[in-house]
Amino acid sequence: MFHQLYQFYEKYQEKSITKRRFGYQLLVSLLEQHRQHALFDIQTIGCSTEQRNIYLIKIGKGKTKVLLWSQMHGDEATATMALMDICNFFATTADEFTELRNHILATCTLYIVPMLNPDGAEAWSRYTALGIDMNRDALALQTPEGRLLKSLVMDLQPAFGFNLHDQGRRYSAGNTGNLATVSFLATAYNEAQDINPVRHRAMQLIVQLNRLLQAYIPDAVGKWPADFEPRAFGDNIQKWGTSLVLIESGGYKNDPEKQYIRQLNFIAILKALASIATGEYQKEDIQPYDSIPVNSKVIYDLIIRNLRIAPDCTVDLAINRDETSVPQSDTFRETSSIEEIGDMSVFFGTDEIDATGLHLADGQTLRLGMPANLDLYNAEGLQYRIVNGVATRMAI
Ligand SMILES: [Zn+2]
Repeated sequence: MFHQLYQFYEKYQEKSITKRRFGYQLLVSLLEQHRQHALFDIQTIGCSTEQRNIYLIKIGKGKTKVLLWSQMHGDEATATMALMDICNFFATTADEFTELRNHILATCTLYIVPMLNPDGAEAWSRYTALGIDMNRDALALQTPEGRLLKSLVMDLQPAFGFNLHDQGRRYSAGNTGNLATVSFLATAYNEAQDINPVRHRAMQLIVQLNRLLQAYIPDAVGKWPADFEPRAFGDNIQKWGTSLVLIESGGYKNDPEKQYIRQLNFIAILKALASIATGEYQKEDIQPYDSIPVNSKVIYDLIIRNLRIAPDCTVDLAINRDETSVPQSDTFRETSSIEEIGDMSVFFGTDEIDATGLHLADGQTLRLGMPANLDLYNAEGLQYRIVNGVATRMAI
């Protein structure tokens, strides 16, 4: 069923969103369209510091309440895109998924807050307009956005919560060369990381979601360590009695705008909702949760191995590319940097070059932190040209 949904994803994909920096106004216009549809009850639940409305979409009439929110960190938009796709999915009628849709909406009531931090989204910043990391504000409650989230949880007392984020795109699934394209966590509710029935249910759901995603991203699902963070929302919401699943969108090769990861979010979230509706998750043993590899940091964007940089000195180079937003636009540019020079044998590159027998262009020297613009030669001439951390094999 979900593999079919994966195949038909394009039908539900919100076509007006093609990039992560799609902005608040586009979200508002999409919600205005959905408001016309009887299925959706869309309300303004409050305002951000800079007086942008924060919206709550209510769908369904079931007794199990499920709260989903995205983009509490303003520059983490992947799940917001997927939530808009999911709204399209529920707004669709009379297709092969009608039964699934009806069952979810008869059993559950979904409460969706897309873009909880609209000021951060507009500034493409993790933080709220006050410069506060909202995910460290669950106790102090000094941000209006954080206060809104807490009061929603208190008022609704949802059975399940989905805390939707993006993580750095270079995390690996364990100490491997596989990017952690999606990572999960059933957040701890205490220092001892005890497993009570509330957290147990979150783990059961994650076991199912991991199994589903393995079909598309084998060995590329990670898990965050469960260290208790007393100030974070996920940890507190688990403590307050909502089974809380953290989903983090990471990196996937050649998917800079995370459109494939968006699709994975789409099916994973719908799978979770279907499982909550049927109660299917209840039969899962939580042992497989333990075997999901913990996120690690052993991947660079590009590793050049075995490059001779001086007589009697052969090294590996580790290079990363980081994005900077282009002001007044929905795009970004990448700036490369040489991060390490030396033995990188315990690390992996998303791209790798074996430069055995190659050397730098005459007179070219390396410094840590410098942009990766390099020419690699052998006796036959130029073999690789690396421009801003992107390598091209030259024709011989
Ligand atoms: Zn985040």
